[in-house]
Amino acid sequence: MTQRIREFLRTRRDDGPCVVVDLDVVETNYHAFARALPDTRVFYAVKANPAPEILRLLARLGSSFDCASVAEIEMALAAGATADRISFGNTIKKERDIVRALELGVRLIAVDCQAEVEKIARARDAADADGVRVFCRILCDGAGAEWPLSRKFGCVPEMATDVLEHAHRLGLTAYGVSFHVGSQQGNVGAWDQALASSATIFAECRERGISLSMVNLGGGFPTKYLKQVPGVESYGDAIFRSLSKHFGNRLPETIIEPGRGMVGNAGIIEAEVVLVSKKSEDDAVRWVYLDIGKFGGLAETMDEAIRYPIRTERDGDSMEPCVLAGPTCDSADVLYEKVPYLLPVSLSIGDKVLIEGTGAYTTTYSAVAFNGFPPLRSYVI
Ligand SMILES: *Cc1c(COP(=O)(O)O)cnc(C)c1O
Repeated sequence: MTQRIREFLRTRRDDGPCVVVDLDVVETNYHAFARALPDTRVFYAVKANPAPEILRLLARLGSSFDCASVAEIEMALAAGATADRISFGNTIKKERDIVRALELGVRLIAVDCQAEVEKIARARDAADADGVRVFCRILCDGAGAEWPLSRKFGCVPEMATDVLEHAHRLGLTAYGVSFHVGSQQGNVGAWDQALASSATIFAECRERGISLSMVNLGGGFPTKYLKQVPGVESYGDAIFRSLSKHFGNRLPETIIEPGRGMVGNAGIIEAEVVLVSKKSEDDAVRWVYLDIGKFGGLAETMDEAIRYPIRTERDGDSMEPCVLAGPTCDSADVLYEKVPYLLPVSLSIGDKVLIEGTGAYTTTYSAVAFNGFPPLRSYVI
């Protein structure tokens, strides 16, 4: 928790849970990425937290932006980014949205199959756009990640060369390869296998007369929650070693797309204990209900994947496990039960709790009015 957030919360007047994001931390994170991977362009993954203040800061610092929709592209443009600093990174797009993105000037677009390449070629004709660059996303198994991105995006590496060749034949620029090693990736070596596959795709394309330029290293850089995580320099070192190992002295242009690692540790949620109870007289474990849960912004507690650090004003007292749950009338709205959460025995109704590391994937996952609860309030300071 930073001094600025502490001050802000001390003088806050309004009621209900909120997240407070400290822009100084975002700025520090941006510089850390730029230092750890000096020859790599940073494309902030807008979906992690699209607050205009964050986008404006990053645009001013020189960041580019990975956008998943036309709305996110418009947000990045409104924040001051030029279209050449925006990529349309979603592999699943409507053709009319591709046309719109091209009309807005975006020229870097993700694909993972031939049908998507064909959409882009038709959209290029409709928008009368030239210089359209596509990159093909390959599958990554996500091992070592606490929030793996599974099989939904990307094709097997053996298919990527054909997808890129198809783009080339349709007059698009076959620009490169992308992958995502899974979010909250704790293994600094997780990029190695995908970089080996990328180098193979580069070589196969070269044999077919197509010269690829870029490897998009995706996101995955972690935020510190309860467990310690390696620093961003360790990721930079490991990635650079893998790049050299697989590409030798023909290093490709590279980009990274940090989301969580850029904003996660910049935010804190302040919430309140609504109820502490037991289900029977001899129930061994208390239930603690907060005024925020899975539908109020803590969706990443799904399957108890992300375990946030929680601070209370009673942290010196003895600790006991509890089941931690949200306030809505949905039984899925339980945060931690399989592995109960240690909280002070003295924790009481009305106490404030601070949930750390909540700058990423909270506001954007918060329901609009489930059970009449408003979406998570956000302050960027
Ligand atoms: C979500 C996403 C990211 C950001 O991932 P983090 O693990 O939060 O850094 C990057 N690239 C793409 C294509 C994404 O979908």
